[in-house]
Amino acid sequence: MSSAIILKLECTKNLKCSPSTVFVGDASGNARRWVIGSAWPYIYAVPHLGNLIGSVLSADVFTRYLRLKGDDVIFVSGSDEHGTPIEVEALQLGIKPKELTDRMHEIVKRLFELWEISFDNYTRTESPVHKEFVKGFFMKLYNNGYIITREDEVPYCPKDKIYLPDRFIIGTCPYCGYPYARGDQCENCGRLLEPKLLINPRCAICGSKPTWVKTKHWYLDLTKLEGKVREYVEDNTALPENARQMSLGMLKEGLKPRAITRDNKWGIDAPFPGAEGKTIYVWFEAVLGYISATIEYHRNKNSEDEWKKFWLDENSRVVFFVGKDNIPFHVILLPAMLIASGDPYVMPYTTASTEYLLFEGKKFSKSQRIGIWIDEALALMPVDYWRFVLIYQRPEGRDTSFTWHQALEIINSVLNDVIGNFIHRVLTFIATRFNGVVPGGDLKDVDIRYRDEALAHFKNAEDHYEKIELRDALLETVEIARVGNKYLNERQPWELIKTNKDEAGTVITNALHMVKASSIALWPIIPRSMEELWAMAGFGNLRWSDAYEPPRPGTKVINVRPLFKKISYEEFKSMLKKLEEIRNEKDKGKYPWEQVWLPK
Ligand SMILES: [Zn+2]
Ligand SMILES: [Zn+2]
Repeated sequence: MSSAIILKLECTKNLKCSPSTVFVGDASGNARRWVIGSAWPYIYAVPHLGNLIGSVLSADVFTRYLRLKGDDVIFVSGSDEHGTPIEVEALQLGIKPKELTDRMHEIVKRLFELWEISFDNYTRTESPVHKEFVKGFFMKLYNNGYIITREDEVPYCPKDKIYLPDRFIIGTCPYCGYPYARGDQCENCGRLLEPKLLINPRCAICGSKPTWVKTKHWYLDLTKLEGKVREYVEDNTALPENARQMSLGMLKEGLKPRAITRDNKWGIDAPFPGAEGKTIYVWFEAVLGYISATIEYHRNKNSEDEWKKFWLDENSRVVFFVGKDNIPFHVILLPAMLIASGDPYVMPYTTASTEYLLFEGKKFSKSQRIGIWIDEALALMPVDYWRFVLIYQRPEGRDTSFTWHQALEIINSVLNDVIGNFIHRVLTFIATRFNGVVPGGDLKDVDIRYRDEALAHFKNAEDHYEKIELRDALLETVEIARVGNKYLNERQPWELIKTNKDEAGTVITNALHMVKASSIALWPIIPRSMEELWAMAGFGNLRWSDAYEPPRPGTKVINVRPLFKKISYEEFKSMLKKLEEIRNEKDKGKYPWEQVWLPK
């Protein structure tokens, strides 16, 4: 990024603001370029709110921010649909795995659209482009000498008569003693595991003791890559603390070869000579989806080579959004694979890893009905309310708990009382007292002081967005509205207008400027409401730097109405009742795609 140039934004006549730095791109005049990837949801069920905030929603907010800045962004993800868990689920339902994932992919894709997730490409691991890319990629690793074979003993359940995939074997974690660790990973301490490491292993389906059967598998030889991966992690100053600590911990223990093939059938055929009948372990192929989805997007636009500008150019930044359980695969294993390919891939800029979101203090659990799933949420409240609440409670730095009590407090006291009221006060005043025409006027020192205070919060929001501190960015936008309310209370345009209409016009136009700035900083989080506001206030489509421009006098304010409303205790109780009804209805469905709420 050394060739980046910074443009000093000139303040307009009325604006004595300190010049803000606005990034306009590199020396060739190009905007910054980004690949934003959110973790691929495993597609046998609808994601819950904790899944959403950890990956997809956070990635969407950051992507929208970058687009406002005028950056060149591609936002990709897709359905992770292979592997034994889905194979077993389909078997139990008496259907083919692909029927299950075809249906669930369409449903989850639709739900993300309803959540206003602005993917450029939400694809799937069954995509032919992905399969072809994965096979070619692994053959490069093979030809470069990073793939080795080993005879291995794998767990087999004699009662269920299947090879047990890693997450279908449960036992005690050798590192932390957690008694329900899965064979692939301990969800208590986050360490990657192998089934053989588990103490007292048992079959997750029937609970019986597995036997061990000899089979040959293909391994990624991580020992050879350890030095370069360590360099990557140590030099990466953008990594959040949790990702950094967990990765350094893994590196300290040493990287060992990891099996990348499996004996199950539902997956991408392993391309190695002699590996007939084996498939690539889902984890290792799904992470390559970020690249194949970029290729697919450009191939569909007949500009296939464009993908290289995103992945093979050192000026491009690749950012992943994942929950903390996904850190090892994104910070250690994918970078290792990129290095092993020998191709000049840009190394991921950072992995924005959140902590866990709990629900009323407990882990989400479908069977115990703890939590809210993203389909149900849509039936209860407008999507922007959810987006606002979830970003407000984004688990940055520590686990946080979603509670209904806090959610209602945030909607009623912050979204409605602070932001909504400020916007509405300003717009209705212009509509009723100035015939809906923005008056304009010359600012006095007191007006400039308030405006600069508001714009300082806007700049703070920008700094937080740049560091992917989305929660703090949101809190700064709330401050803009607080300053605006304080300003109106001090200057009292409703009093001024009795004696000095011009000055009242100046004040309300200046307040509208603060509305504009806050709406720009809020658009990534609540895009639907902010676009409604932009239409009402005659702002048109705004970009980030427009916050420093006062609203144009003469612009028409139209169709003014409140953007948000409070949720009363009565309404809250009926929401809970509705949730109960939806769940009872969902429980009647036999197939997973029947256990989903979708708007009629
Ligand atoms: Zn553990
Ligand atoms: Zn069993």
